[in-house]
Amino acid sequence: MILSSSELKQNAARKASENEYFREAIRLCRSSELDALVAPIIDKAYRDINCLDCGNCCKQLRPPFTPSDVERIAEQLSMSDAHFTEQYLEDVKSREFAIMACNPCAFLNEKACRIYAIRPDSCSDYPHLHHPGFKYRIRSILENYSVCPIVVQVIEDLKGRIEFALN
Ligand code: SF4
Ligand code: SF4
Repeated sequence: MILSSSELKQNAARKASENEYFREAIRLCRSSELDALVAPIIDKAYRDINCLDCGNCCKQLRPPFTPSDVERIAEQLSMSDAHFTEQYLEDVKSREFAIMACNPCAFLNEKACRIYAIRPDSCSDYPHLHHPGFKYRIRSILENYSVCPIVVQVIEDLKGRIEFALN
């Protein structure tokens, strides 16, 4: 069963000190060995949890839209880039991206994304687990522990497999 938004927050508060200890302990791991260990754990979490039954990140976060995201999505919605930007995005004075103006995201329909097949690249990549250097990214990964059930499953599974005592 996928944890609700409030359950994720409560769980993160309950696990805060344990996760802090985990973050410190993971610094003792060799990066390449940790990446090899965590890869199948991540794959399993993606198999176990269907994003289309969750949508929590779409309610909590405001994703960045790059110019190529805007071009692709606006074209599919038969809008000009400028009209799309005006209607949906907030300018953050960056040449690289703007962000969704509201949350929950304007494209969220209950728990599913209305533009799932053409969603922004950062949405496809979220929660950004499939990149090398898990050890070096652990702080930002843990920031999503209160948002994403995939992150919760991966971290809890990893705690059970890394050879260190949590107490
Ligand atoms: S990425 Fe995580 S928070 Fe977002 S919909 Fe999928 S499981 Fe839910
Ligand atoms: S664009 Fe789609 S996947 Fe991205 S935050 Fe909005 S609803 Fe979620």
